[in-house]
Amino acid sequence: MAEQTSPLPSVDSLLRAPESRVLLAQFGRTALTATVRALLAARRDARAFGVGVPDLLAEAADHLAIRFARSQRPVFNMTGTVLHTNLGRAPMPREAAHAAAEAMLGATNLEYDLATGQRGERDDHVSGLLCELTGAEAATVVNNNAAAVMLVLNTLALGKEVPVSRGELIEIGGAFRVPDIMARSGVILKEVGTTNRTHPSDYQGAIGAATGALMRVHQANYAIVGFTAMVQTEALSKIAHEAGLPLVEDLGSGSLVDLERWGLPHEPTPRESLAAGADVVTFSGDKLLGGPQAGLIVGHKSVITAINRNPLKRAMRVDKGRLAALEVVLGLYRDPDRLADRMPALRLLTRSRSDIESTAERICPVFMGRWPERDVDIRPCGSQIGSGALPVDQLPSVAVTIGGSALENIRNFLHALPKPVIGRIAGGRLILDCRCLERADEAAFIAQIAQAADTV
Ligand SMILES: *Cc1c(COP(=O)(O)O)cnc(C)c1O
Repeated sequence: MAEQTSPLPSVDSLLRAPESRVLLAQFGRTALTATVRALLAARRDARAFGVGVPDLLAEAADHLAIRFARSQRPVFNMTGTVLHTNLGRAPMPREAAHAAAEAMLGATNLEYDLATGQRGERDDHVSGLLCELTGAEAATVVNNNAAAVMLVLNTLALGKEVPVSRGELIEIGGAFRVPDIMARSGVILKEVGTTNRTHPSDYQGAIGAATGALMRVHQANYAIVGFTAMVQTEALSKIAHEAGLPLVEDLGSGSLVDLERWGLPHEPTPRESLAAGADVVTFSGDKLLGGPQAGLIVGHKSVITAINRNPLKRAMRVDKGRLAALEVVLGLYRDPDRLADRMPALRLLTRSRSDIESTAERICPVFMGRWPERDVDIRPCGSQIGSGALPVDQLPSVAVTIGGSALENIRNFLHALPKPVIGRIAGGRLILDCRCLERADEAAFIAQIAQAADTV
């Protein structure tokens, strides 16, 4: 049996070595000690003794770098879906992110009225803007749109029936299903009509003494085409009001401006819904609005007051950082002429095909250089808005695509980059839609692919 020839260095000598200094500064004594202990124990178990201090510390540095790497990191979204829920939805305007950071770094007048020196309301920082931009009497903000829907239903119709068209009983994904949300909100779903056709008489027939509200849900994620009929907000609000009931509308994405102005398909706006008679409208902050995650609730003053008195509101409230960002984002809507430049989500959605193509042409060579044997080309493709907005319409875009075998290896290579690149594999090719790669980020994008040490 081979006996130990050169003993392992001690933990103490490792921590005192000059190479440890930078590791101590970066990771701290506790983590470094635990790591060198584990490495020494593994060597002892494997009877692998002859190792020097610098080698062991280099190994420790690799271990610590992996263990301390941040889990959530920025990525390049090349999926072609601009508002990708799994990639964090809307990219925020820089000044909005700065406002959030500034608020989070210290104290703010979040719930403090500077004019009177009395307690203030956190919603007051954005409710005026929301009213201005939607024509609502009052507004409030919660964690996300799912919370907004729950809070509205729970406030208006707890223990009561809420008729909803069968064509609107949707699943958004990620466990947002309208029937489940309604049940957890404490209301009783009363399905009316059929999947493809629902008529005013279906709602009228469903209204009774137990009815608490009527609800309309914007058909996110899918479209019903062909032999269809839906009751529009205006007609439905008349039915609701004749019965003395409020009409709730969940718009999902909801845009604060008419997107047709930029050649995009029409998406219903909260202003239109309120003008058509909805009593309360909910929509997301991080979908087409282009801001932070939030659920925005706008409508009649009496309804908003009741919502704010609901104890659940407290469980769904948003923090000062998001409110600060939201205030900045909403403020940008006061100047619609400059919106497409200043709002990243809208800027990406309105990018011209030729502009995207020039990005594809500038980044394509780095892939050709990296994989000269592979079939790399530039192709037209279709981007999606994402987050359920306008699910059928595709925006003309351009992609760099890579063919050949073992595409998973290329995908893994792209995922392992310092700023991972997320594309999609379809039709036997890896497709990198260039819509969301902006000019300012191209150089960094190209450099990290050119410089990556790993090979595929
Ligand atoms: C996206 C969406 C929701 C959920 O909104 P979150 O902000 O993700 O909570 C609810 N309803 C509709 C119609 C949606 O499109």
